[in-house]
Amino acid sequence: MAADTHAQGAAERRDLAVRAAVEQGLVGGADSAPPLVCLLDTAGIRASAAALAGAFAAAAAPGTPVLHAFAVKAAPLVPVLRLLADCGLGCEVASPGELALARAAGVGPERTVLDSPAKTAAELREALALGIAVNADSRQELERLDALVAQHPTASPIGVRINPQTGAGAIDALSTATATSKFGIALRDEGARAWLVRAFLDRPWLTRLHAHSGSQGVPLPLIAEGVRELHALAEEINAAAGRRQVDTLDIGGGLPVDFTSDAHAPTYADYVAALREAVPALFDGSYGLVTEFGRSLLAKHGLVVARVEYTKSTGGRPIALTHAGVQLATRTVYAPAAWPLRILAYDGKGAPKQGPPVAQDVAGPACFAGDLLATARELPELAPGDLIGVPDTGAYFFTAHYGYNSLPRPAVHGFTVDGSGGVSFRTARRAQTLADLAAEAGADLAEPLG
Ligand SMILES: *Cc1c(COP(=O)(O)O)cnc(C)c1O
Repeated sequence: MAADTHAQGAAERRDLAVRAAVEQGLVGGADSAPPLVCLLDTAGIRASAAALAGAFAAAAAPGTPVLHAFAVKAAPLVPVLRLLADCGLGCEVASPGELALARAAGVGPERTVLDSPAKTAAELREALALGIAVNADSRQELERLDALVAQHPTASPIGVRINPQTGAGAIDALSTATATSKFGIALRDEGARAWLVRAFLDRPWLTRLHAHSGSQGVPLPLIAEGVRELHALAEEINAAAGRRQVDTLDIGGGLPVDFTSDAHAPTYADYVAALREAVPALFDGSYGLVTEFGRSLLAKHGLVVARVEYTKSTGGRPIALTHAGVQLATRTVYAPAAWPLRILAYDGKGAPKQGPPVAQDVAGPACFAGDLLATARELPELAPGDLIGVPDTGAYFFTAHYGYNSLPRPAVHGFTVDGSGGVSFRTARRAQTLADLAAEAGADLAEPLG
């Protein structure tokens, strides 16, 4: 019941936000307003952050240190990171750029975790100097760390990412715990377990283990199995060391999202229940915990609103040509079966559009035939000047802009609905101007290239 109320509340807020965005000129059906805008529901984000913290707090023994580090790649926008920091979350970063964003958001080193399979020596040196947590991804990275740790003492907690090799989920590209995944040190390869135990015994400064079994498409029992492997390895290392050398388990993120409805399912409470079943000792207070959720915190709270510029009928199929396409739904366009998105129809004033369902294609503006958000989708028949809404796009969609056709990054605004239905917006990212776009494309490099 609680989940339903939450979903209905979110759908109401969404419709209020679309209408207000039109009224306030952020997007519109006519040429006087921008044809495309991206919105984030701040109340929804806060609710997800609270649900995450609450689920772990309810399960963990009192006093267990728990850091929820938001996976910055899911929504790399400083005001979003600030909002999440306000909710008590830290940041998981995987590149110098993501670290720069976390720092710009004021997220401190003790709340930042660095994961990446390709950290340069300079990146590692900076991380250790700052004291942010580092998870080594490979044997070679561990050797680099040996040299750096010998040179300078560091406050950074240092761990090793393991690949539990527990298998793939529904989407191969997002499955990181396969037999041959590029991530982490494989646990089930010949001799690997003994090597890992030895690596910890030889390095008293290694205090963490990390696993992230994948994102969207990896079922909860498979994620839980990876965490069980992580916990068992920590126990083995600590037994061999005769002390609690491993004091923290970083269990990654990967809670999947329902892209077919407004439901939040599975919930963080479901995830915690799956962990308790698979690894009962995980929450007993022996280990501090780090999580790295991305999609499940943001996806449901993002909405693209785009104008229908033209419509046509081709081969008997109605087609709506909109301003939302591959630049903000890259995965959906290139892998539509794995990344289906819902489409909502609004009229040019931002009111939900009524009418009998008509199967139609919803196309983006890019110059290739596959730039489609949906094919043969049953919707009230769209007309020029209408708007479409594309929900569930708050993570990895418009925040991971793809610059095809030099399509500019649209503005992103957070919205907040007050008790009487009034909507206020605050900008999270300004629209990229054509001047910005030209400058980023080398407009100041005036010489002919060769
Ligand atoms: C991408 C990633 C995450 C976040 O995954 P979600 O599916 O967005 O929760 C967490 N940890 C690591 C190491 C990642 O690569």
